[in-house]
Amino acid sequence: MENKQIQWMGLYPEELKQALSEMGEKPFRAGQVFSWLHKGARFEEMTNLSLALREKLRERGIDQPVAIRETRVSKLDGTQKFLFALPDGNCVEGVLMRYHYGATLCISTQVGCKMGCRFCASTLDGCVRNLTAAEMLGEVQCANRTMEGERVHNIVLMGSGEPMDNYDDVVRFLRLVSHPDGLNIGLRHISVSTCGLVPQMKRFAEEGLPVTLSLSLHAPNDEIRRQIMPVAQRYTIEETLDACRYYIEKTGRRVVFEYALIDNVNASPECAEELAGRLRGMQCHVNLIPLNTVKERNLFGVTEKQVQAFLSVLERRHISATRRREMGDDIEGACGQLRKKVLREGQS
Ligand code: SAH
Repeated sequence: MENKQIQWMGLYPEELKQALSEMGEKPFRAGQVFSWLHKGARFEEMTNLSLALREKLRERGIDQPVAIRETRVSKLDGTQKFLFALPDGNCVEGVLMRYHYGATLCISTQVGCKMGCRFCASTLDGCVRNLTAAEMLGEVQCANRTMEGERVHNIVLMGSGEPMDNYDDVVRFLRLVSHPDGLNIGLRHISVSTCGLVPQMKRFAEEGLPVTLSLSLHAPNDEIRRQIMPVAQRYTIEETLDACRYYIEKTGRRVVFEYALIDNVNASPECAEELAGRLRGMQCHVNLIPLNTVKERNLFGVTEKQVQAFLSVLERRHISATRRREMGDDIEGACGQLRKKVLREGQS
């Protein structure tokens, strides 16, 4: 017997229509079901559907696949960190930041990650599995439920996982979350961050999805990048920047380079000069962030003075750059830190 549960929220309207007609239902019901699911409703709340239909849907699948297992609220800035529970018992993290221009949610795309970046806590135990599109939507639904009179306005795919390593479900998520009959979040309010899987980045440029692409660069040359990011063994910086140029050309959107400053690794003024040379003439923006120290790996962040020195080199060389605000520093705000802490606590 097949008992795999369908995650109804992950179906496109045409797929939902097809599934309902195979269940002997009228196709127009699909619109109603779609709109309920994307409002965050449970089966029992779908009051304009017959009890019999709601029961059929329940027998075959899940309405809302994600629940909040734990919440931490930052005393410093009100940032909330969620631990989301998935239907199979796995959990992932999300972070909700309240900016004056609207609530921004950082979501995870995989349970863990297999990219192996040396400074990242999400990858320490490898990748358990991909998240489905419905589960990514579920993270947004959960965050919306915690807010009164406000909804998630911006989304960044910067939680655990490598979005380009879960390509199909990430693209499906992007199409569904921006669907006018669903959450209707503008693609221009969404950022997708990648460590630089070049073939997928090129393919992504052709999807016609005007999101912001963020590239985790973190080094001005291949030698340094290879020390901290295994993906740099596969693709050179030049190949990676070429993929970024292709993205800019296809979408007309600037690319954002993430650069975590790591003491004694990539944070010197010489590194800033070299970076500026590489990025010259590109339609881009550099986001500097002092590394969140990962004790397990002996990699350390930098002082504010070092950040400012790096920034001033970029400014002098006319590279658009800012220092990213750190939020939720007191609540394990950074990637993978809360999940690891909870897993550790569970073991002890
Ligand atoms: N896999 C994707 C998205 C998830 S990581 C990517 O690599 O881009 C999101 C961002 O957090 C990336 O820029 C990543 O390099 C950065 N990051 C990971 N660990 C960090 C740490 N300890 N301090 C600062 N930034 C970190």
